[in-house]
Amino acid sequence: MSRTAAFFDLDRTLIDVNSAILWARAERRDGNLSLVQLVKVLYWAGLYHLSLVNAESTAEVALAHYRNRSMADLEHRARDWFHREIRHRLRPGARQALDWHQKAGHLLVLLTTSFHHAAREAAETWGFNAWIANRPLEDGQGRMIGTCEKPLCYGSGKVARAEKWAEDHQVDLQDSYFYSDSYTDLPMLERVGNPRVVAPDPRLRRLARSRGWPILSW
Ligand SMILES: [Mg+2]
Repeated sequence: MSRTAAFFDLDRTLIDVNSAILWARAERRDGNLSLVQLVKVLYWAGLYHLSLVNAESTAEVALAHYRNRSMADLEHRARDWFHREIRHRLRPGARQALDWHQKAGHLLVLLTTSFHHAAREAAETWGFNAWIANRPLEDGQGRMIGTCEKPLCYGSGKVARAEKWAEDHQVDLQDSYFYSDSYTDLPMLERVGNPRVVAPDPRLRRLARSRGWPILSW
């Protein structure tokens, strides 16, 4: 028998900010990012919110910054950062939705463009069954090689990754839910039977209205 899943985007859906901005600021404070690099991240984040960014090339540039760095060190810093800056930002309405789906027997899946370590920490802290995110690749010595697994978990890549996960877990996407704030998530919103739009950007709001999709504000 097939199961139902509730997929959730992270940035500006479960939490009210773009976590990449908070990560970049923390990296700047810790001396791991120059001021110019921080400004670039803020610029990309603005474009991302307007669905104007080339996510693949942006992710490549971001990951190139970590080439030859220790994966274990990144993992450790990402964990500290999550508990310091993200954990408390889970929106109350998001918590209610997670609890509702859990009671209904649905599988909870975090589906995010964030990097793997932050996504795993979020998923484990907030009671998700699984997480699908972008995993940086490493060499045999535990050093990052500066790219991540493909397809990138973004846009239609999110659909490809979710479809693979659903197949492996006997989940029917037509019965499933996806919650997102962003027009960039349109392919996945169209792929599930129950799209849920959360505090959407203007472009997604217009489209959700025209299609009669529920628009949530939490
Ligand atoms: Mg988002």
